[in-house]
Amino acid sequence: MILQTTGSVTPLLHVLGPSDLPAFLIQSDPPVLIDAGMSAVAPQYIREAKALLNGRGPADLFLTHVHYDHCGAAALLKKAFPEMRICCSEAGKDLLMRPNAVATIGELNHAGAGYLQQMGQADKEAPEFEVFEVDRVIEDDQSIALAPDLSLQAFATPGHTRDSMSFYVPEQKILFTGEAAGIMAPDGYIFSEWLTDYTDYMNSLEKLADLEVEILCPGHGFVLTGKDAADYMPRAIESGHRFRELIETTLAQTDWDVEQTKQHIKQIEYDPLADPKQPEFAYLLNLDAKIRAVMRVCTQ
Ligand SMILES: [Zn+2]
Repeated sequence: MILQTTGSVTPLLHVLGPSDLPAFLIQSDPPVLIDAGMSAVAPQYIREAKALLNGRGPADLFLTHVHYDHCGAAALLKKAFPEMRICCSEAGKDLLMRPNAVATIGELNHAGAGYLQQMGQADKEAPEFEVFEVDRVIEDDQSIALAPDLSLQAFATPGHTRDSMSFYVPEQKILFTGEAAGIMAPDGYIFSEWLTDYTDYMNSLEKLADLEVEILCPGHGFVLTGKDAADYMPRAIESGHRFRELIETTLAQTDWDVEQTKQHIKQIEYDPLADPKQPEFAYLLNLDAKIRAVMRVCTQ
């Protein structure tokens, strides 16, 4: 099944916020959160989490990566739940120590708030991004106890970004991928999301494909269950191969002109999409990175 609604998926798993910018609450003992969307949505995450937690607070917030739309509300969540530790990979922690990176996260959250207000998904008085510190670094293959019979397994899944991590609850076969495994459009098309490295991205997909998944929670849009969840990773791998081919063919046709290649692929992949969709400038910025990642593989 493909779920676009937010709220309870199972008694253990809740999707907070709008489906395009979800934060996931695992009601384990203690409860934990995965991802922190954008600052503009923080009041909604906090309101919904508090309503479910009856005075308890999450012990940890695990970030799949520190892109602006996955860590935007981290500081605001920490203010609401002061005991909560903010957790991410070492590479994510390193990024957050770079003032330029943090400034960009803040600017994109500010710009994103305007977009969300237009869509009716954020209040007029939406809070701004605030800087935060990482309290706990998570390693590849680390297993975190969530309850006596429940655990969270962390996997380094680079390729979308260097710091990307996926999180898996083996006892319930729930997988959280951020953008490490691409993002599905409403028509089922899977956008391949390698921004830093094509080979790493495909290797991460192969690693995730080895897991048995009954509930898949990508970083935007949908939650997939049952057969849709089980079938997703092979489809994401297939999409990755096809998208690389499209980039290579278009580069060859345009004599390796990145600008023309971008425009050609945008016509195929982005223009036919119905609103609401990712803003065009953001799509083109990411597409540029994806094309250059494929060029690096071709010239190796
Ligand atoms: Zn991302």
